[in-house]
Amino acid sequence: MNGLRIRVRGQVQGVGFRPFVWTLAQDLGVTGYVLNDPEGVLIEAFGPVAALPELIRSKAPPLSRIDAIEVSEITGTAPKDFRIIASSGTGAETRVTPDAATCDACLAEIQDPKDRRYNYAFANCTHCGPRYTILNALPYDRAQTTMADFTMCADCASEYADPADRRFHAQPIACPGCGPRLWIEPAHDDPIAEAAARLRHGEILAIKGLGGFHLACDALNAGAIANLRTRKHRPAKPFALMGTLGVIQQHAAPSEAEVALLSDPAAPIVLLQSNGTLPEGVAPNQSTYGWMLPYTPLHHLLLEAFGGPLVMTSGNLSGEPQVIDNDEAREKLAPFADAFIMHDRDITRRLDDSVERITTHGPMVLRRARGRVPGTLPLPKGFESAPQTVAYGGQMKGAICLIKNGQALLGHHLGELDEALTWEAFQQADRDYAALFDHKPQVVAVDLHPDFRASRHGAARAEAEGLSLQEVQHHHAHLAACMGENLWPLDGGKIAGIILDGLGLGPDGTVWGGEILIGDFFGFERVTHLSAAPLVGGDRAQAEPWRNALARLDQAGLSDWADELFPEAPRDMLRMAASRGLNAPMSTSAGRLFDAVAACLNICAMGQSYEGEAAMTLEALALKAPAEEQCGAYKMPQTPGGFDVTKMFQAIRANLNTHTSPRTIAWRFHAGLAQTFASAAIDLVDQGRAKAVALSGGCFQNALLLDLTIQALGDTPYLIHTKTPANDGGLALGQALVAAARQIPQAESI
Ligand code: ZN
Ligand code: ZN
Ligand code: FE
Repeated sequence: MNGLRIRVRGQVQGVGFRPFVWTLAQDLGVTGYVLNDPEGVLIEAFGPVAALPELIRSKAPPLSRIDAIEVSEITGTAPKDFRIIASSGTGAETRVTPDAATCDACLAEIQDPKDRRYNYAFANCTHCGPRYTILNALPYDRAQTTMADFTMCADCASEYADPADRRFHAQPIACPGCGPRLWIEPAHDDPIAEAAARLRHGEILAIKGLGGFHLACDALNAGAIANLRTRKHRPAKPFALMGTLGVIQQHAAPSEAEVALLSDPAAPIVLLQSNGTLPEGVAPNQSTYGWMLPYTPLHHLLLEAFGGPLVMTSGNLSGEPQVIDNDEAREKLAPFADAFIMHDRDITRRLDDSVERITTHGPMVLRRARGRVPGTLPLPKGFESAPQTVAYGGQMKGAICLIKNGQALLGHHLGELDEALTWEAFQQADRDYAALFDHKPQVVAVDLHPDFRASRHGAARAEAEGLSLQEVQHHHAHLAACMGENLWPLDGGKIAGIILDGLGLGPDGTVWGGEILIGDFFGFERVTHLSAAPLVGGDRAQAEPWRNALARLDQAGLSDWADELFPEAPRDMLRMAASRGLNAPMSTSAGRLFDAVAACLNICAMGQSYEGEAAMTLEALALKAPAEEQCGAYKMPQTPGGFDVTKMFQAIRANLNTHTSPRTIAWRFHAGLAQTFASAAIDLVDQGRAKAVALSGGCFQNALLLDLTIQALGDTPYLIHTKTPANDGGLALGQALVAAARQIPQAESI
């Protein structure tokens, strides 16, 4: 008899794919089998099979991602029935998918008084629930998760064993009879009602979630928000918010695309334009709020009981990673929280909330974490034979990337690696991802900066294990990351990269950060850059924008204005250090140029309370410029020393003297930077030196800068980040691609 062999590749394991195929087979009256193997899912089917491949493609389970379906005809004896065959062999079923927000079916159950999971805070199924955050070891099955301590009751066990059930092989399956338990401290009979009552009274609650603890308070209560800021020593950094869609729509006007992103199984925080109806303390001086929908049954129950929007910010000590353990929470969060919502399902893998937004140019990823990892990304053509490579990323927004078999696993946001607990998390992530990906690297990629903790870690590993160590220049890595996520082929030719970034060490020993590079995965040259200015005081130059302003104003012959602007600052000391080159490396950083302009407008001049505060505030200000003020972009003429910004600072001062509004000045700066870099990049494409333009680096988290740059590029082809962060959270992907490309033998001839 004739049949079909169907191979399905992609994210198809641990997402209910086999029972889905089994159900299709029952409906069609097809016989045969389905199994998981190292390449994905394999099906052999006999009978009325014609429609099967298309049904698999069109009706695939919500958490699956099909990269390819290959169909071939086979002959043989048709079996009597259709079976799910248990997997064997290495590589099969070792995959674990990202954690997923509560699905509609589970939500309906917890809201249905007749359902046995009514009001149950830990309901989940094959299409939703915890995954990576409860993983102890591989392969991913219940015994290797923190659900191992809970013995399934007879009802759950029969659901788990029934291929027709939505909970077939759902490893975290649970019910009120056998699963995790919720409580509140101080104790109360009804933890949810008590939590809602306390929130209504303006209290701050520590709430154990999926990837860690949050601190929550009533987002309409300015006093509670102020209290949370005081207790957390967090004066200005925006707080994330959680609300039902109905609540969100009272405080923002999400577009269709934004609603779709909010509702994604990853349930990221989505930045939405604020309408000013929440207290200023939620996100001081910012134009957006970060909103997320409830993504666990616990969140749904709490929001239903509470009724309004909640602030939901990471439960951590300043600078430390989020707390995940109950005892740790009681100890560390006690100074912040009036009560604790706890449960006994342990979190083993800490994951922050992901942060994303929708711009006029598609999605943008600001922080890649819960719901997105450990998902994989396909690599461009040409990397199929690349050696297994691990890349260790940067310093401020640590993230690891592994590549293998034409796929990349870009790890979650870790944070600033000099913090001791973050460093522990980095080392754990290194072990975890290696195990998850069954990864045995031949190549280790690190940043050129020898003092980055991640660079030292990579160098030590390469040395200890005899692996090839590849140093990759920071901005070449940004360029390669952008090319990589856009699947630019290995032999696709050169790209002009507009890299507007914080700081990255150049091979010339100076600090780069506002460059145009021409390059491919193999190498690059630096074509032009911003004019350099001294970065006086190392880390303090990042924390104190006035230092950058002083350096730029002195260059522009505006020392007197600098004296007026920053009367209290130790200007003489700074000028002496700059003139003698003491702890004052020359830098072309675009990030520091943002800080300098912000300081001239009296934004965060003496200090930023969080990284990027000055630049984000400047963006928010520029966005207030009405259409009739959107003209007069500042010119930054090309000189032998790079794009000269002295005339811009002179113009800013002249504009302020004639009472031009700061929002107009902020807009002119954004537009000037965008137009300057875009027109130089267009020239490179027109001259045939590059095939397209790529936009990367942390400054391209700025949606206005991104939009103005794309506008200025006109019809020149361009690549932007939509799946990975343009900031250092995506750096490791680029490092891995560059390091791997250098190892591909045929590379030399291209
Ligand atoms: Zn579900
Ligand atoms: Zn049960
Ligand atoms: Fe960077």
